[in-house]
Amino acid sequence: MSNPSSTIMQERSVTVPRLNFAGVCMACTERDCEKSACLAFWSRLRWIVCPICNGGSLEGSPVDCCTYGAMEIRC
Ligand SMILES: [Zn+2]
Ligand SMILES: [Zn+2]
Repeated sequence: MSNPSSTIMQERSVTVPRLNFAGVCMACTERDCEKSACLAFWSRLRWIVCPICNGGSLEGSPVDCCTYGAMEIRC
């Protein structure tokens, strides 16, 4: 009696890199940061495709609703 696919997946989870395109840590805004505190902090964050702009694919959506189409969810 196994039920392996009990999927509650309306929200697609995505991975957001901790370092942005310039190599700046998005947790502490330090360049080339490798602090273990930031690594631990970032690994706890959960992201989904932004439901407001549908990952940035909706025209006319607010530009500041998310981070590059991904939205952080707090659990
Ligand atoms: Zn950092
Ligand atoms: Zn958005």
